Amino acid sequence: PYTGPSAAEILSKRKEYLSPAMFYLYNKPLNVVDGKMQYLFDEKGRRYLDAFGGIATVCCGHCHPHVVDAIVNQTKRLQHSTILYLNHAIADLAEALANKLPGNLKVVFFTNSGTEANELAIMMARLYTGCHDIISLRNAYHGNAAGTMGATAQSNWKFNVIQSGVHHAINPDPYRGIFGSEGEKYAKDIQDLIQFGTSGNIAAFVSEAIQGVGGIIELAPGYLPAAYNIIKKAGGLCIADEVQGGFARTGSHFWGFENHGVVPDIVTMAKGIGNGIPLGAVITSPEIAEVLTRRNYFNTFGGNPVCTAAGLAVLNVIEKEKLQDNAFVVGSYLKERLIALKDKHDLIGDVRGRGLMLGVELVTDHELKTPAKLETLHVLDQMKEIGVLVGKGGFYGNVFRITPPLCFTKEDADFLVDAMDYTISKM
Ligand code: PMP
Repeated sequence: PYTGPSAAEILSKRKEYLSPAMFYLYNKPLNVVDGKMQYLFDEKGRRYLDAFGGIATVCCGHCHPHVVDAIVNQTKRLQHSTILYLNHAIADLAEALANKLPGNLKVVFFTNSGTEANELAIMMARLYTGCHDIISLRNAYHGNAAGTMGATAQSNWKFNVIQSGVHHAINPDPYRGIFGSEGEKYAKDIQDLIQFGTSGNIAAFVSEAIQGVGGIIELAPGYLPAAYNIIKKAGGLCIADEVQGGFARTGSHFWGFENHGVVPDIVTMAKGIGNGIPLGAVITSPEIAEVLTRRNYFNTFGGNPVCTAAGLAVLNVIEKEKLQDNAFVVGSYLKERLIALKDKHDLIGDVRGRGLMLGVELVTDHELKTPAKLETLHVLDQMKEIGVLVGKGGFYGNVFRITPPLCFTKEDADFLVDAMDYTISKM
């Protein structure tokens, strides 16, 4: 049993000693002390079904024994920086990751986070092309350092960042966007941005395949191939941000971009890659990777033995436990049940996503799509009381984000939908 400080004591220490920037879910935040696969446990030993852990990095399941063993064994042996010396762990993971990617994408640079990975990808694109301008999608989230905060396109994640050479294209959002699901029509905006906002050449286009923070928005079909074409003609590189949508989460494919039939020039990843351990990566072709040899470039802990041992264990678990198939089967079932729930409750405006990356958007008016912000908070809170944790996102904070560990079962899916149904029915 847990004998540590209570939730109230932790909260009071946080108030005194931690940055006020740190936020938490729920009016009465949960004190989670243990995790096991798709479950979290609070200080009293109460169990919660975690349908949001996937986004906070866990893909194999909390404390998956195989990943834990890999971390513990490597920690006992050696933990150090990867610069200066050889060690097998970083090379083994790089090889395994390269084998998961199409085409010439086989050179890896490891970082500690998604932000770092995207910063590096943008810098490499600028070095490779000799251009400065980058294009990202409105509503995107790519990180919170200087370059990535510029690429992020939601005001609530931006401070007074200097957005030098950043252009935000119209979001191909099938639910709220002006062209509905007609992806190619949205792509024309990229052409306009290049034509009227740059010298005609650009460094890169960066996008997620399914916007996570933005509220689980699947880019309209046909958009990415058309966008990639336009970018290539302007001499730019296409960067796929797979921080949330990668690592088998979308079920039908290992990478989110594969759902759109495109092959990027650079792929960035983090979160799921380490199952809770800080790790990120940038993968590109040998030709593009070469730009980093012009000066010294390193990252003290990027690719350290412990984190890369964890990453290799994650890939093994995904394969051995057929987690991609599970994401497809359970995710499709869960989506079907959520769509049925939408037919039952007016409050649900949209159900979307792929595999185990699903979104449920709440609106008070189907025509106007008025965000049901308070209702979202209420349902989130009540579902927690029943024992189900889902996330929240979208620019208006009215979208449930359902991104559980990939070991989620059909029974878990039923429990989640029943809890949501019960809570909305009681409102
Ligand atoms: N890209 C995407 C798509 C993300 O969702 C996030 C994190 N929410 C990041 C990049 C940044 O990752 P990190 O928080 O590890 O820096």
